Amino acid sequence: MAATVMELYGSKVFNEHEMRERLPSSTYKSLKATIEKGQPLDLEVANVVASVMKRWAIEQGATHYTHWFQPLTGITSEKHDGFVSPQPDGTAIMEFSGKELIKGEPDASSFPSGGLRATAEARGYTAWDPTSYAFVKDDVLCIPTAFCSYTGEALDKKTPLLRSMQAISDQACKVLHLFGKDVPRVATTVGPEQEYFLIRKEDYEKRLDIVLTGRTLFGSAPSKGQELEEHYFGTIRPIVSDFMKELDEELWKLGIPAKTKHNEVAPAQHELAPIYDTTNVAIDHNLLTMEMMKKIALKHGLVCLQHEKPFEGVNGSGKHNNWSISTADENLLDPGDTPMENLQFMVFLSAVVKAVDEYADLLRTSVATPGNDHRLGANEAPPAIISIFVGEELEAVIDAVCTDSPYAGPVKMKMDLGVDVLPKFSKDTTDRNRTSPFAFTGNKFEFRMPGSAENLSDANTILNTAVAKELKEFTEETSGAADFECAAAAWVKKTLNDHRRVIFNGNGYSEAWEAEAERRGLPNRKCTPDAMIALKDPKNIALMEEFGVLTKTEMLSRYEVEMEHYSKIINIEARTMLKIANKQLIPAATSYMGEVANTAAAKAAAVEGISTKAETKVLQALSHYTDEMSDAADELKEVTDKVCALEDESAKAHAFHDEVLPAMARLRAAADVAEELVDEEYWPLPCYSRMLFYT
Ligand code: ADP
Ligand code: MG
Repeated sequence: MAATVMELYGSKVFNEHEMRERLPSSTYKSLKATIEKGQPLDLEVANVVASVMKRWAIEQGATHYTHWFQPLTGITSEKHDGFVSPQPDGTAIMEFSGKELIKGEPDASSFPSGGLRATAEARGYTAWDPTSYAFVKDDVLCIPTAFCSYTGEALDKKTPLLRSMQAISDQACKVLHLFGKDVPRVATTVGPEQEYFLIRKEDYEKRLDIVLTGRTLFGSAPSKGQELEEHYFGTIRPIVSDFMKELDEELWKLGIPAKTKHNEVAPAQHELAPIYDTTNVAIDHNLLTMEMMKKIALKHGLVCLQHEKPFEGVNGSGKHNNWSISTADENLLDPGDTPMENLQFMVFLSAVVKAVDEYADLLRTSVATPGNDHRLGANEAPPAIISIFVGEELEAVIDAVCTDSPYAGPVKMKMDLGVDVLPKFSKDTTDRNRTSPFAFTGNKFEFRMPGSAENLSDANTILNTAVAKELKEFTEETSGAADFECAAAAWVKKTLNDHRRVIFNGNGYSEAWEAEAERRGLPNRKCTPDAMIALKDPKNIALMEEFGVLTKTEMLSRYEVEMEHYSKIINIEARTMLKIANKQLIPAATSYMGEVANTAAAKAAAVEGISTKAETKVLQALSHYTDEMSDAADELKEVTDKVCALEDESAKAHAFHDEVLPAMARLRAAADVAEELVDEEYWPLPCYSRMLFYT
């Protein structure tokens, strides 16, 4: 098997190895310069690359190619073009030019743009991201691309991400220069841990709510939940194990380093984590992983649910964004062994602390979606407040730095900088705080707020840019100093003192923390419409404009897109509930009442004086809750219609949150009680126990 894995790995990818083997050496060199230094690729070189890439792709069975991109909503998009080109003599050749490789023009007028692209100027173009390898999937050569309008505005999630990676690289290089190190480039790395649920396809098909919205809009709590904690890291069941094996193989073919897989906390919940990679590549891979999970599950009679909260009362799914900054040979968030390495580490650490504190509101927008609203702030996941966990050891160091007192940690070594030498951190799990939304885990930060369905580009774009900003400030304040080390230590001290309020090592799920966070002045925006306002904040627009990541127009357009998207999702959920209640649940309840009433009447007719107590109790209760369902459905319809008619996108999103969601909750509450009263055979929706415990 080991040999096969090695053969499989990357076999569907036009990777470094294929490039070196197949491209003429001068072409290979030019392409490498483009990949490594961002030099533009000239058309002649592109022509050679395209022709070699095409030949390789055809060997892999490809007949079409596509520019694979990431629009503002949804995950990825692709439009397939055939290589085939008919010739005048009735034959055909396979064509793919350099121009087609580097630039595409999808007719993309129906992608959301938040008003960036007038319908009259519907065209946008896609441009190859040569730092992410092309690959073959379903007989299509996929070229990872960025998507822009003709006036250059970003219409996708990858463009700003690439810009932010450039920004942090530029600023980190300047900081390292002050430390006497000259490196050409610094990269941010990401290792996304993907959580998901698997349910049986036959159950899925009976649940219109999951089919249309990805989550259950009805369903009473199962008699057994996750309280026994037997599922977490438990034995993986055969059907799931088969799925995971096939998934691993398909991912390996695509050069995706899928590494760990295990059962998660909730029944039917699982996780996959790859080995980390450069941010844009890691995100491309994560999106492909999500797609492969869905496809492969179907082959095993399963459906993969990637919604953040498929089941009420059961743990939701997140996507932990493990993040660090590295040069070719150094992880900049790894505390070092020497005083200088430590000082450098403290500078990068302080920059992250300051960035997260100053731009917490903006970072919050990157994880705000209608689905994730069910996780954040709910009682099982990171709260909507962003705080940083650093662990006891590092906290002691920070204490020492902030108060000028000697460091009293486990390892004591006095050093000249007024900061004691940090010991190497033990990366063991005893020092883990699983309730922190932004946790330092030894040599990286783990941002735990993103939801399982998220494209991680937004979170990383904001994180990279905010950290770039703080690194820039550091360079400006210390580069002219007579004594750099002193100036650097002073900046670290000041920065940590100013931004300590964002550091919190306690239980992030407790109510006490919510109150404490409020005292500290940390933002706590609990729902998407409240969170998104940060996209319009002048401070945040200034940040993005300063580093050329997003313009004001692009930021405002994103606000529009997100608010509109929020309303659309809740609208679909509300209308799906109405359909299910009116066409499935109320009829099921009334049919069952008919049966019970007939039974009671038959019993009474057959045996004089017989008790019909049980039937009467069921009829009374069920009749009551069926009336409630009916009333709640009428109210939901009325309020949804009213809110839909609002013109202003912002007012509309807020009204969906404030008025439609509570109406949905009322309908659900009545239906969930009714479910408990109705014979299983009559209830049309597979119940929670069936969905969670039968795979
Ligand atoms: P957990 O206990 O949270 O599951 P793991 O040690 O399994 O943590 O790591 C989770 C993820 O962090 C993996 O995807 C791993 O590759 C990634 N990771 C490790 N080091 C780095 C780094 N320097 N930068 C980014 N991600 C990293
Ligand atoms: Mg984790």
